Amino acid sequence: MSTDSPETAGLHRDTLAVRAAVDRSQYGENSEALYLTSGYVQPSAAAAAARFAGDEEGFTYGRYGNPTVASFEQRLAALEGAEACISTASGMSAILMMCMGLLKSGDHVICSHSMFGSTIKLIGSDLAKFGVESSFVPQTDVAAWKAAVKPSTKLLFAETPTNPLTDVCDIRALADIAHNAGALLAVDNCFATPALQRPLALGADIVMHSGTKYLDGQGRVMAGALCASQDMVTKTFLPVLKSAGMTLAPFNAWVVLKGLETLDIRMAAQSARALALAQWLQVHPGVARVHYPGLTSHPQHELAMAQQSNCGGAVLSFEVKASDADQARQRAFHVLDSLQTLSLSTNLGDTKTLCAHPASTSHGRLTEAQRQTAGVVQGLIRVAVGLEHLTDIQTDLDRGLSSF
Ligand SMILES: *Cc1c(COP(=O)(O)O)cnc(C)c1O
Repeated sequence: MSTDSPETAGLHRDTLAVRAAVDRSQYGENSEALYLTSGYVQPSAAAAAARFAGDEEGFTYGRYGNPTVASFEQRLAALEGAEACISTASGMSAILMMCMGLLKSGDHVICSHSMFGSTIKLIGSDLAKFGVESSFVPQTDVAAWKAAVKPSTKLLFAETPTNPLTDVCDIRALADIAHNAGALLAVDNCFATPALQRPLALGADIVMHSGTKYLDGQGRVMAGALCASQDMVTKTFLPVLKSAGMTLAPFNAWVVLKGLETLDIRMAAQSARALALAQWLQVHPGVARVHYPGLTSHPQHELAMAQQSNCGGAVLSFEVKASDADQARQRAFHVLDSLQTLSLSTNLGDTKTLCAHPASTSHGRLTEAQRQTAGVVQGLIRVAVGLEHLTDIQTDLDRGLSSF
């Protein structure tokens, strides 16, 4: 769906977040309408034929499109500064749609080896069965991305900052490498969201989202999306949606559409708490190391600040102090089992602070060697900071941390 409507031209992002793509029925409701229907009544046989052929605008069937889903797509596109957006049932199905649309057997993809666990599995194993080749390189090593390029490279796919170590990669540099190779750059923008980072403006060709995270923002539904040029959405991704059917449900679209209205203020408030918590953890005697792009000790701090609107985001991770891996795992489990207020949950992007042990959960399917390369050690705890009072967050983490 296209975003260049005359009503929203020239408006600021804050305004677009609440005003872009408002679709009202004949009742004039102020909140966005939710259209729950799997099919549409056609005005005439000729109109139905024209709509199915794509010669005329108009909805035909729920798998192909829905007005509420279209509103979400237009609003997200407006926030990402994209020409168009197409949504999916989950973040992973957005990645699947991207790969099915862009790649064929023999094509090559380059990703960072610290990408989201299921992304590594999907591209490295599942798509390999269909002859798609992949290379996984160190996230922050621009030379390694460049060296991995082959004549068959069609796509570079980066996630920044990464989960759970918050490694940041240089989007502009990767876009140059991709374009010099005649390939495309896609960026998984789950962690920073368009509130902090707009990869298309930095040269990326595609932005991928798990709407399940900050776009919804309150842990209610699954959703995914790809933002790109109108041409790519219509010609490359829409045909995959039509035949493969990873369609976003209208209710879920309505929830994430409303989530976009508060995205910027949630990200600002949650990131402010994350920075304060990172600074507190950094000097805590029970903590060995904190990973957070907003800290000056972060290896890509300056790049992160330049690329992410001077903000570290709302996710951090830290390693508990321990003498070996077994003790580290035991202590990390102890910190998590001592929580009384915060949630022990592998999700992120919620107004409730969520804490997790990546090595045994999100990265549990990886081999020990893959985990080591990704830096997901046994003492690592990830905190996706929510909207609770900072003192309450600290008190809850301190329960376990101060008892070693
Ligand atoms: C959660 C997540 C995904 C996958 O999204 P789902 O909505 O769970 O399918 C992809 N990338 C990142 C960075 C994520 O955090």
